[in-house]
Amino acid sequence: MSKLENLNDLFLEELRDLYHAENQLLKALPEMEEAAHSADLKILFNDHRHQTATHVQRLEAIFESLEQPAKGKNCKAMKGLVAEAKQHIKEKAASPVKDASLIAAAQRVEHYEIAGYGTARTFATTLGYMDAADLLQQTLNEEGATNERLTALSQGLNVEAMVVPDFHIEK
Ligand code: FE
Ligand code: FE
Repeated sequence: MSKLENLNDLFLEELRDLYHAENQLLKALPEMEEAAHSADLKILFNDHRHQTATHVQRLEAIFESLEQPAKGKNCKAMKGLVAEAKQHIKEKAASPVKDASLIAAAQRVEHYEIAGYGTARTFATTLGYMDAADLLQQTLNEEGATNERLTALSQGLNVEAMVVPDFHIEK
């Protein structure tokens, strides 16, 4: 356990947490894409995989600017969120219900990231790391936009999920 002496130390810890969180998500998104039935949801997961790779790169750029090694710190929260998403992937469910459950898991992930990036951006601003704050804000905006896309998509899919005949349930 490292000792946190000041806000700068805490900022670095937050970055390491986000770095591990993003790397875990990067591995999970292709599975979520594969499990999705709706073409629009598959596209969304694929788009977000590309964005997530950029989020990892932005964090690496910030570590470099701070002359710190890019290393993660075990992010248990994202581990739990990914585990829940994987549970939904495995569940037997009618296709629109499956998609609704994947969206539910994905929105939890996005909200977690929004919280983490909001905090890190505010720390960066306070510490005077304006370039880092700018990069963190860019990622924050993309997480927010992804969350809104998920909401928009779920509105149509949830209506479908209300009325699924039993015989459509996958084996
Ligand atoms: Fe991200
Ligand atoms: Fe995200």
